[in-house]
Amino acid sequence: MIILMGRWIFGWIILVFTCPLLAKDFLDTSIAPEWSSLDSFQNRINRTDFEHLLTRVYCPRATWRKGWVELKEKEVWIRKSKALDDWYILSFGDGNQTSTGKDSVLQSGFKLSLQGLTIALDPGHIGGDYSKMEGRHFSIGESPPVKEGDLALTVAKILKKKLIDVGAKVILVREENRSVSSFQPQDFLEEVEEWIVAKEERRGERFPAEERVEMIKNRSEVLFYRVSEIHARADFINTQVLPDFAVCIHLNAAPWSDPDSFELLDRNDYHVLVNGCYMGGELADDQQRFEMIYRLLKGWHKTELLLAENVSRSFSRLTKLPAFSYKGPNALKVGEVKGVWARNLLANRIYRCPVVFLEPYIANSKAVYERIQLGNYEGEMQVRGEPKLSLVEEYAESVFQGIRDSFSGSRK
Ligand SMILES: [Zn+2]
Repeated sequence: MIILMGRWIFGWIILVFTCPLLAKDFLDTSIAPEWSSLDSFQNRINRTDFEHLLTRVYCPRATWRKGWVELKEKEVWIRKSKALDDWYILSFGDGNQTSTGKDSVLQSGFKLSLQGLTIALDPGHIGGDYSKMEGRHFSIGESPPVKEGDLALTVAKILKKKLIDVGAKVILVREENRSVSSFQPQDFLEEVEEWIVAKEERRGERFPAEERVEMIKNRSEVLFYRVSEIHARADFINTQVLPDFAVCIHLNAAPWSDPDSFELLDRNDYHVLVNGCYMGGELADDQQRFEMIYRLLKGWHKTELLLAENVSRSFSRLTKLPAFSYKGPNALKVGEVKGVWARNLLANRIYRCPVVFLEPYIANSKAVYERIQLGNYEGEMQVRGEPKLSLVEEYAESVFQGIRDSFSGSRK
């Protein structure tokens, strides 16, 4: 489930086997991106393709780009540091091929089977004992709680088996409802104290004691379960798995109509995300600006869109749910298939591979909650007078069919 506006999205983590405590580099905003790693893209992508990806996928508004990414006739200027008038200049080429090696094989459409592909499955969130802290947890009456992290892991395990059966190599980013990050919330207390003191200096007074304690608790937890966890998962994916693509598995949830009484909702839908739609404040961040340009030049959007559209079609076919549509500026419609949107999320930005981020089902809807309570089961069961697979099986089968259709040569 996504994280804004009461959705639960998000997910990810992994064990770093080599070092017991990862450096907290991800908190250091002064570390400059490696701009020289863009050198290999010099004189490759043509201006038309670059402009198309920039304006139709990665940053649709000229006002968001102004001062950060400047398109010229024969080159694009990308500001290297927000503090300096220092630019990386990328010259356009005549070709339309942006990628090499495995990426170009995936994008060429010639990869007609899953044989030999490496796929990272990333079950969203940590789940288990952490699901309450993560805000991906609810329970009604005496019924077992709904934990997004646990459901995502079950889906990932079912999906893994299906993909292995057709020849893919599949790595789960986590195998249990435990964090991949080796940190705990208390490891961030020093940074959080600095953060809160800076806030207090700006407002000119200390926060009331009780509020201060609460803020410190919440902030240190977020740095653990979201920031450190996703960076640990990225580290695993980027240095050990090196997949052809990654699939982030989540279930969506909608805001309760009354936060004090957990009354289940009627709304139920799905959507699928690819990386894109970097907003002005995000492009002002040196690391995010770099990652956006890097992803664009790698040509990963093509693979992301292919997968997202096929998975969106199979969600529609198997779940019979309507596709969700965003209304705000934080998401951009991409491609022709309903339910496929671009958003800039931490996971789909820092995992160095094509990423599709799945948000099917509204977990706190009447229909989905009822199916979650039925658990996983073999075959079909009558639910509200209709034969239904278990929710986790239906989810996994939808994703499997979408991935299979992307590489079967029978693309629709
Ligand atoms: Zn989620």
